[in-house]
Amino acid sequence: MADVIIRGGTIYDGGEGKSFVGDVAIRGDRIVYVGKSGRYAAGKVIDAKGMIVAPGFIDPHTHADSFIRSPDQAVRVNAAWLNQGVTTVMIGVDGSGTPDVAEDSGKLAASGIGTNIVPFVGFSPVRQRVLGQDARAPTPAELDRMKALVAKGMCEGAVGLSTGLFYAPQSFSTTNEVVAVAREAANRGGIYDTHQRDESSYSIGLLGSVQEAIEIGRQAGMPVHFAHLKALGVDVHGQAGAVIAAIDAARKAGVDVTADQYPWLASGSSLDASLLPRWAVDGGGPALLKRLDDPATLERIRGEMQENLRRRGGPSALLLIAQGFPWTGQTLEQVAAEWKMDSRDAALRIIRQSIEAGEQRGGGAAVASFNMAQADVDLLMKQPWMITSSDGSDGHPRMFATFPEKYVRYVRERKVIDLATFIRQSTGRTADIYKLDRRGYLRPGYFADVLVFDPDRYAPRADYVRPRELSVGVRKLFVNGVLAVDDGRTTGAAVGRALLRPRPTGCTAHPG
Ligand SMILES: [Zn+2]
Repeated sequence: MADVIIRGGTIYDGGEGKSFVGDVAIRGDRIVYVGKSGRYAAGKVIDAKGMIVAPGFIDPHTHADSFIRSPDQAVRVNAAWLNQGVTTVMIGVDGSGTPDVAEDSGKLAASGIGTNIVPFVGFSPVRQRVLGQDARAPTPAELDRMKALVAKGMCEGAVGLSTGLFYAPQSFSTTNEVVAVAREAANRGGIYDTHQRDESSYSIGLLGSVQEAIEIGRQAGMPVHFAHLKALGVDVHGQAGAVIAAIDAARKAGVDVTADQYPWLASGSSLDASLLPRWAVDGGGPALLKRLDDPATLERIRGEMQENLRRRGGPSALLLIAQGFPWTGQTLEQVAAEWKMDSRDAALRIIRQSIEAGEQRGGGAAVASFNMAQADVDLLMKQPWMITSSDGSDGHPRMFATFPEKYVRYVRERKVIDLATFIRQSTGRTADIYKLDRRGYLRPGYFADVLVFDPDRYAPRADYVRPRELSVGVRKLFVNGVLAVDDGRTTGAAVGRALLRPRPTGCTAHPG
C-alpha cells in the first residue's frame, strides 16, 4: 500500500539509463517503488500518461535568500523555484555562506520553506570575521582562526567551502591562503565551489583563473566545482574550448573538476556598475553628480567608459530592463540613437536621472548585459561534467525561469542537448557531485522529491523585461512526499528540509 501512485508517465530516473513508461509510488516521505507495472495500491492515483516523471530538480547555485528568509510564509514557499520543478537549492554560494551552519539552516528549516536547502560555508564571512575588509594577508594566528571557522561550518553540516574570489574582500586573498582554508573543508569531505577570480579579462584572465581553481583543488586534495562557468566579455569569447581542455586535463590528472552553467547570454548588472570606473562612484550618487558637472572629470570618465563599453560588447549588448521607464526594453544603442547622442552620454543621462529621481526610481539604470557568446554556452553545455544552475537573483529572469528556459531553447528548439541529458544535468549528476544523501534519483528508499511535468507546456514566462513571471507546465511536484505544486499552482506546503552532512570524522580535532 502506498500513499500516492504516479501512473503511466515516462520516467527519467536521474541516472544514465533509458527512460521507460511506468509507475512511481510514494509512501510517507520516501519513494517505495519505481518500475514498469505498479503492484501497489494507493489512496491517491495520479494519471501521468504523456507526462515526464523525474526527480525534483536540484539547483546548485542560487541567491534564494530574499524568498526563504522572508517574514512572509507565502514568500518562503519559494514559488520561483517550485514552479520550475526545483525541490532543492544550494545557498551560501559565491563565498557568502555563514560558518554558523547548524543555527542558520536549522532556523530556516523550522520557519517553513518550500524547497530543501543545502548550505555552504563561505570564504567571505570567514575572512571578514578575522580581517574585516583589509586588503592584506592574514598572520599565522589569523589564518588559524579562519581555518577554525571553516572547520566549524563543515562540522555543522556544510556541503563544502564556497568562494567568490572576484569580489572584495575575497579578492585580496592569495592562492596559498585559499588553499590553507580550503584544506579544512577537504579534510571533512567537502567540495571547493567557486565563483572564480576572473571570468573575463579583469585581472588574471579566464584561463589563468581556471588554472588557479584547479590548483587549489589539487593542493587541498578536494573536488573543484566552477559556479556559473562562462566566458564573459568579447576579450574571452571563443575560449570555452580552452577552458574545457584545461578541465579535461585536470580530470585526467586526478582532480575531480565539474561545473554548472545557466542558459542565458546575459548577466544582470547596471549601467553604472558595468560602465563607470570605480573611482567615479566612490562616495555614492551625489559625489558622482559633482564629478559629472566638472568638464575635465567628465572627460576622464567618458574616456574610461569607452574601454568598459568595448569589453561589454558595445551599446547594443546592454538592454535596459528597469520597469516603468521610457527606455524600458530598449538597448543603450537604440536609446542613444533616439536621443541623437553618443551612447556614453545617453548612459550618463540615464544614470543621472536615476540618481536625481531618488530612491524609488534609483533602479532605472538596471541592464541585462549580453556578454556571452552562444557558441561558448553551447559547447560548455555538452560536457559530461556540466550541470544546470540558475544563479537566480533579483532583476534577472534566471531566478524564475532557468530550467524551463533551458528545456525550451536548448532541448526542444535548438537541440543542443537531449531531454535525458537535460534531466540528468538537473538531478542525478548534481546529487553525485555534491554527494547528496538519497536525493536526485527516483529509487526505492530515496526521498520523494518527484517532478511531473507536461513536455508540451513546460515553459518559461519570465524574460529580461518581465523577470518575475512564474514558469508554467509543472503538473505535480512533491517535496519530501508532500504535494508542493498542483497543476501549476503552489499548494502552500512548506516542507523543505536542511540537507546537512552527517558529522565528518575530522571534527574531533576541531570541535568548532
Ligand atoms: Zn556568482
